[in-house]
Amino acid sequence: MAMRNRILACLLMLLAPHIVFASADITAEDWTRSGFGSPQIHSLRAEELCSDCKDADYALDMDVVLLRKSGWTEEEFLPMLRETAKIYSQCSVRIDRVELALADPPQGRTEWGKYKDEGGATVADLRRAVPVQGRLAVFLLGTFSDNTESTGFSSADWRNSKDTRPPLFNTVFLSTASFIEEYRQERVSNPYNLLAHEMLHVLTRQGSHFNLPELNLLNIWKTRTNMILPQHCAWVQESPLLRKLR
Ligand SMILES: [Zn+2]
Repeated sequence: MAMRNRILACLLMLLAPHIVFASADITAEDWTRSGFGSPQIHSLRAEELCSDCKDADYALDMDVVLLRKSGWTEEEFLPMLRETAKIYSQCSVRIDRVELALADPPQGRTEWGKYKDEGGATVADLRRAVPVQGRLAVFLLGTFSDNTESTGFSSADWRNSKDTRPPLFNTVFLSTASFIEEYRQERVSNPYNLLAHEMLHVLTRQGSHFNLPELNLLNIWKTRTNMILPQHCAWVQESPLLRKLR
């Protein structure tokens, strides 16, 4: 994938403060009421996500919406999620609970580009439809048709810029380009987890990349890595999305 597209793959937006709700059960009825069709809910706990992670000082709860017919499957997503749980143990953060909803999207829109059509649902509408607001939400969508090589992007209340799209704050969007063969092959030589990368933007509230000589998860220049720098872990631990455990 061209470097230009790697950079475009990490487009960012802006944000605002949220009230964070600690662990809340979201039921299938809640999802249905919000406009998602035939939701199937799976609650995943820390033990299932990372059995060998050490005790953590912080916990993170998140909601994941896998849009049916987008091309995403649980088989594609769960290994990425489990690896992400392992990666965040570097920062003494435990992904404590993930509410995974497989659902038909409101208005049947699975492609990113469809949410930009005038007169229809927008991604902000999609974000607002998640029953519990204020937690980290991840959407697994089809291709980003306005830029077919884009793999993912995130939105948060960035430290260094003013955002005009607070409805999208604390959200990660991943497209099916995340697991096409070309991208998968790149990752063989440069292990790198896109979900963990986009989450790091949100949790550190850093919309930019750190393409420095030192390797780190926010560096997308040439060689990539899943290592998180101590400074970035410190920012993660300041995130209002986390719960302090001890
Ligand atoms: Zn990025």
